Amino acid sequence: MITRFAPSPTGHLHLGHALAAAAAHETARAIGGHMLLRMEDIDTSRVREEYYGAIEEDLHWLGITWQGTPWRQLDRMAAYQEALNQLQEIDLIYPCFCTRKEIQAMTSAPQQGDETEALLYPGTCRELSAAEREKNMLIRPGFAWRLHAHKAAAMIGDASFDDLRYGSTRIDANLLGDVVLARKDIGVAYHLAVVIDDAVQNVTHVTRGEDLLSSTHVHCLLQHLLGLVRPLYLHHELVCDHQGKRLAKRHDALSLRSMRAAGVSADEIMGRLRPLLLRNLAAIL
Ligand code: GLU
Repeated sequence: MITRFAPSPTGHLHLGHALAAAAAHETARAIGGHMLLRMEDIDTSRVREEYYGAIEEDLHWLGITWQGTPWRQLDRMAAYQEALNQLQEIDLIYPCFCTRKEIQAMTSAPQQGDETEALLYPGTCRELSAAEREKNMLIRPGFAWRLHAHKAAAMIGDASFDDLRYGSTRIDANLLGDVVLARKDIGVAYHLAVVIDDAVQNVTHVTRGEDLLSSTHVHCLLQHLLGLVRPLYLHHELVCDHQGKRLAKRHDALSLRSMRAAGVSADEIMGRLRPLLLRNLAAIL
């Protein structure tokens, strides 16, 4: 029985991370297993070395423990490439040469956040002929690899995943469209890395915020395509600020460090999160 907390070392942990870490830790305790810590650090443009240590320090301060040395996804690029090759062999990914600007101009979907992935990709490069692809590979500076979602959906047929709060959920392979599985700048993307690592680390229970529920459709689709064991999910509510907006790294005043510096104790933080934790983990605790 294994859970994991998988932060990105791109900023200091805040109250929302404390909830996610506590959810993974409490779940591990309740199911008689242990929690792993995984640094999701593939976005090297935003990662800073100091945040790795700061994350461990903040978790220790909260009394949250994990087993073993934390994995760093940057050490795992070969495994992601292997999975990408596997998907390429069965013709389920295609190179995409579009820039973020081009995609924004092509789509009428409202932009959520700053990720190109948040835009439903209209599939422009999916339709390119082999000759056009070859030509683009020579003249365009770099390209991403995208999942051919329709084809993947047809391949897996009817399938579902289990979530301890949402119940059995039918996988909608087209929910996020042709997501990027390998970014042109780093050669991999979150969706692929997270699926491979959860499988290789034998994670049995994935607990994380409900903002990632739509991503779970993609993750379970990939698990089917790559023949991986599927974990059980629990998507919990998010911690919100006073205006009801979910916390982000820009809310520095609510970082655990700032709270600690202001004299807030770890017990007070855990006490504040307790009702939310009990309500969200009711199926486990
Ligand atoms: N690394 C992601 C984050 O910082 C979490 C991914 C996950 O739990 O699947 O939000």
